[in-house]
Amino acid sequence: MSHEKRIVTCSGPHDAHAFDGIPLQPRRGDLDRVCPVCGGHGQWNAEFDLASQRSKRCFCDKCDGRGWIETGSDLVPRPDIELAPDGTPRWVTRYDPSDDRE
Ligand SMILES: [Zn+2]
Repeated sequence: MSHEKRIVTCSGPHDAHAFDGIPLQPRRGDLDRVCPVCGGHGQWNAEFDLASQRSKRCFCDKCDGRGWIETGSDLVPRPDIELAPDGTPRWVTRYDPSDDRE
């Protein structure tokens, strides 16, 4: 007997199962507004299996997965990679002006 699979694919955050199993992101720093694209989730399901609840997810480009956007002049944290003094790459957080200033 094979395992039941009921996979739905989502073309974007507007699809019915796009946010199944994905929590809202907590607000970080001084970010101003819930992301209008992902509604504060930061990511959505590209594929979702209704039987097992497993999913393939994609990150939101608009908010870089933060779920929140900056509309003022505050700097926005962005994950980046730089080389440590010993030559190994490491994750750092940069603070840049937002693209979404109003
Ligand atoms: Zn977003």
